[in-house]
Amino acid sequence: MSIQVINTDPFANLNVDLHCHSTVSDGVLSPAEVAQRAHAQGVDVWALTDHDEVGGIIAAREAATDLGMQFVTGLEISVTWANKTIHIVGLNIDENNPDLLAGLIKTRSGRQRRAEDMSADLAKVGIPNSYAGALKYVGNPDLISRSHFARYLVEIGVCEDVSAVFKSYLIEGKPGYVPHRWANLTEAVNWIKGAGGVAVVAHPGRYDLSPLAFDAFFNEFKALGGGAIEVVTGSHTVDQYDEYTKIASRYGFMASRGSDFHAPDEHSPDLGQLPNLSKELIPVWRTWAK
Ligand code: AMP
Ligand code: MN
Ligand code: MN
Ligand code: MN
Repeated sequence: MSIQVINTDPFANLNVDLHCHSTVSDGVLSPAEVAQRAHAQGVDVWALTDHDEVGGIIAAREAATDLGMQFVTGLEISVTWANKTIHIVGLNIDENNPDLLAGLIKTRSGRQRRAEDMSADLAKVGIPNSYAGALKYVGNPDLISRSHFARYLVEIGVCEDVSAVFKSYLIEGKPGYVPHRWANLTEAVNWIKGAGGVAVVAHPGRYDLSPLAFDAFFNEFKALGGGAIEVVTGSHTVDQYDEYTKIASRYGFMASRGSDFHAPDEHSPDLGQLPNLSKELIPVWRTWAK
């Protein structure tokens, strides 16, 4: 059960969802369909944050504007830091910034080869042709992701649901996991800042880092000009809302809120359904929400 914390700051009481995905990355709804769903769920301020891609922004913005919902331009960049994958959300960016666009092309470029390697590894454990199977779920040929493999493995009955596929096949140490080097933290933060945006650590509670490594990471992110962390996200438990509220205060980060919605009936909560940020936090949307 989650507890709704009522914030006396009027900006903080907006229904804000600044993290979700469309078919332009590993979501199952088109950008316009995600906009419609967000609006139907009561979202007032919304960002589409596809992985390593801004290709859905125009359609998303148009749909949001038609619905009278405030749109924030966003994305989620895959980063490798200390050999771990970390996701950095960028908000309020100029999606036409040339350095950002070039950086995203570079970041996406290894996905195809990685997918072929994943398919070869899965074949060795008795799951053939998963590359072709995953492709059936891909909406953007530049953005084949583990989620597409997971959906295919559910389709053929290997596991009950995508979370089970990740647990048994697609996370580090499992047979279909292929290590990959993404953008580095400095690049990702600089692309976002260079495009006029705010860099936000996505779902910090999901990373397997020691307290010392976390401290080094947050200090480095701060020194690079990172501005915020997600506190209330579909990937956090209620205890982690408290934990990352304290961390945001300790390091002087603004806070963000986002469902990380990918698909109805998958692991993430629906758009706009999470509790508000607690009142001691500075919402990342404070400077631009109307
Ligand atoms: P990729 O960018 O190809 O490595 O895929 C990462 C995506 O896989 C994430 O953005 C999530 O959508 C999904 N994902 C990662 N871990 C899990 C998990 N344990 N359960 C379900 N989905 C996951
Ligand atoms: Mn995803
Ligand atoms: Mn993520
Ligand atoms: Mn995400």
